[in-house]
Amino acid sequence: MANAATVYLVIPCYNEEAVLPETVKELTAELKGMMDKGLATGESRMLFVDDGSKDRTWSLIEGFHAENPLVTGLKLAHNRGHQNALLAGLMTAKELCDCAISLDADLQDDIHVLPQFVQKFLEGCDVVYGVRNRRDTDTWFKRTTAEGFYKVMQHLGVETVYNHADYRLLSRRALDALSEYKEVNLFLRGIVPLIGYRSDYVYYDRHERFAGESKYPLKKMLSFAVDGITSFSVKPLRIIANLGIVVSIVSVIGLLYALISHFTGNTVSGWTAIVCSIWLLGGIQMLCLGVVGEYIGKIYSEVKGRPRYRIEKHLK
Ligand code: UDP
Ligand code: MG
Repeated sequence: MANAATVYLVIPCYNEEAVLPETVKELTAELKGMMDKGLATGESRMLFVDDGSKDRTWSLIEGFHAENPLVTGLKLAHNRGHQNALLAGLMTAKELCDCAISLDADLQDDIHVLPQFVQKFLEGCDVVYGVRNRRDTDTWFKRTTAEGFYKVMQHLGVETVYNHADYRLLSRRALDALSEYKEVNLFLRGIVPLIGYRSDYVYYDRHERFAGESKYPLKKMLSFAVDGITSFSVKPLRIIANLGIVVSIVSVIGLLYALISHFTGNTVSGWTAIVCSIWLLGGIQMLCLGVVGEYIGKIYSEVKGRPRYRIEKHLK
């Protein structure tokens, strides 16, 4: 087995003042433990990424940095969302570490498995996915919608790891590979499996958030799901085309039926049928246009190629 690795723990934080003190305390203990066991080198650090928080998150990070040599920080100029904040942290850590582990600030993901991640890295894995054993600490709603989402992704041919969120280890080599994916519509869970290097899994139990509120309300969850699907699969477009074919066939049959009724003299009030079909077809057309529009919107933002985040400060 190789020697100890320089490990960076990358933690995106958005309005996390309620959880940070406890998070820093627990992660410091865990990181020190890994150093004592000879898994992590003395250069290993935590990197807290402040995703443009509106509360005292950044001043807390500055305070911890001053008193705790293991804490480093990165301040983004704006709130760019979880995925971009994570990417900013990973791309910064890339220059400083042998491997980086991403995790949430609320420690919902069991941090006692961190040594297992590093162990697998030292055994030669470039990507280690954290996979949830059970989801019974999530609400019923979150659990069913999330599981439905993974199933839909699978049907659409997008390779994702079932019940894996963004708790994962990436080697420096994998981070270099990740930096080659320039997309603005970032969905890391879909990109990482495309990297292709040797990977493994670590299983853990997911806890409840111990303080603060989820920063993923339903609205953000839905747009995250739509992004995930439309950034990785063009199947919805094909489904629309197929739907169009089916509707056309049905309307030809309808036309024949109308003509036959006309010539047999049954031309009574077809009002209901007409109104229903107008609404139905209008609805289907609008839905389809919406899906097409979603892809055009994606092309629009990719073509502009705007920067995905801007770093305001880096506390090393
Ligand atoms: N987060 C972020 N930017 C955002 C929203 C969330 O950096 O715009 C961070 C947040 O601070 C946390 C992680 O992303 O560390 C996951 O968020 P949360 O725990 O609220 O999501 P949930 O676990 O409820 O899905
Ligand atoms: Mg959480």
